[in-house]
Amino acid sequence: MNARLERVELIRLAVPMKRRFRSSVSAISTCETLLVRVSGEGLEGWGEVVADVRPEYGPETLDTAARTISAFLAPPLLERAIDGVPSATQRWAWVRGHSMAKAGVELALWDWWGRLSGASVASLLGQARARVPVGVSVGLCDSASELEAQLEGFRAEGYRHAKLKVTPAWLEEPIAVARRSADAFAIDANGSFTGAELDRLLALSGPAFVEQPFAWDDLVDHAALTARSAVPVALDESVPSLAALRSAIALGALEILNVKPGRVGGLLAAKACVELAAQAGLGVFIGGMLETAIGRAGNVAVASLDGVNRPSDLPASSRTFETDLATPFVLGPDSTLTVPGGPGLGVTVDEAAIRRFRTS
Ligand code: MG
Repeated sequence: MNARLERVELIRLAVPMKRRFRSSVSAISTCETLLVRVSGEGLEGWGEVVADVRPEYGPETLDTAARTISAFLAPPLLERAIDGVPSATQRWAWVRGHSMAKAGVELALWDWWGRLSGASVASLLGQARARVPVGVSVGLCDSASELEAQLEGFRAEGYRHAKLKVTPAWLEEPIAVARRSADAFAIDANGSFTGAELDRLLALSGPAFVEQPFAWDDLVDHAALTARSAVPVALDESVPSLAALRSAIALGALEILNVKPGRVGGLLAAKACVELAAQAGLGVFIGGMLETAIGRAGNVAVASLDGVNRPSDLPASSRTFETDLATPFVLGPDSTLTVPGGPGLGVTVDEAAIRRFRTS
């Protein structure tokens, strides 16, 4: 099939969140996001750029992504007909980095291509299951009682897995709370520890894994911890690409991989990471970035692939938003989300909500 793309549009929004979310690097109560709408052949496709306002998770921001898309990623897509998403994205293979910008445009292309061909994005990627097990990520809390109340609330909603944000100042206390009240839990430090605190991390017990204890650009300390820790080490920020994953595996720097399609450059790169990690015998799950249902739909499609063997960090829409930007994801039985089966991403965009929250 050959199809002509006619338009690529960027829409910046500020979507109010139900509650403030705090990690070791940020605290936000409004989800600022950038949507990508592509259109051609009478159909539309939607994507989402999951960068933040500030370069605090990775080096990109919403502004750098918008600039990269309009200057470098969108123009080659409009030059000539497209015969598939993989070959279309090859047109910007020369662009180094800017993974979140690439992932946002690629997602819109998948949605558009799926609608053109009448197939779901999950099935185009090689879907292996209809429902995916999910858990919640719990932000930093001010007290043990606040954490206890949050965990109790999530359990009442039906979640069976929680991942707690931790820092060097908030580590032993939340673990003690979670050991009392959560069914299964892991911890995520977002790079807030240094190699000097190795012994403290070696003394941990209880969490299913410890995610990204050390800096985003550090593999060596993660390898030192992995070699000695009874609690498995998971990597998130330290794996920005498939090539970085190869290095991390070669160094023995992880036992579990958190695959975020936005961080690695899109659904195709995420699929390649899942496959490589599974071949290496790693635990694998899909993570998110507080995206709306548009971005989440792409993450859920990747979570449906073979090789994803742990509950993914993809909570239902109601966890984050009063009003989502597309068909909300609802928590199903056994702490799962259903993979949308309709054409494209399988979610219907709420144009009224987009008009309401759009800022530019
Ligand atoms: Mg993380």
